[in-house]
Amino acid sequence: MQVADDLAVFFHYTLTDSAGEVIDSSDGSDPLGYIHGTGGIIPGLQAEMAGKSAGDKFNCVIAPADAYGERNDEMIQKVPKEMFRDATPEPGMQFQTQTPAGPHIFTVVDVSDTEVTVDGNHALAGETLNFAIEITEIREATAEEKDHGHIHGPGGHHH
Ligand code: ZN
Repeated sequence: MQVADDLAVFFHYTLTDSAGEVIDSSDGSDPLGYIHGTGGIIPGLQAEMAGKSAGDKFNCVIAPADAYGERNDEMIQKVPKEMFRDATPEPGMQFQTQTPAGPHIFTVVDVSDTEVTVDGNHALAGETLNFAIEITEIREATAEEKDHGHIHGPGGHHH
């Protein structure tokens, strides 16, 4: 079986930045699973996975446009401090807000007496990503998984 639309695909990965620093890895965890063709992983990686088989190992380099996008300075905004009613904003803190496009995470970059500067760029925006991939399993997705657009764990449990 080869990776194709609507199949559940599981893989181990190590993600490094252009300086060779490990950003993220599935080492010591279960493989990551997604349903091919649903946008469950970044577009550039999904394109690399197509046609691969269980047991395949490969490396690939994904440009920002096919990963988390380019950094956009318009995503850096100042908002009134009183918007943070329940928390004291400090640089580095991350908050999630609801937007018409779904939940969005932004990071506090600066705090003044009256204003908070927030950055809505993804932490990996603008980064070229290097993946080392090992595909561990490919199977048919269940009807429920296809319906939800994500895989379920052993026994169909929801996560
Ligand atoms: Zn589900």
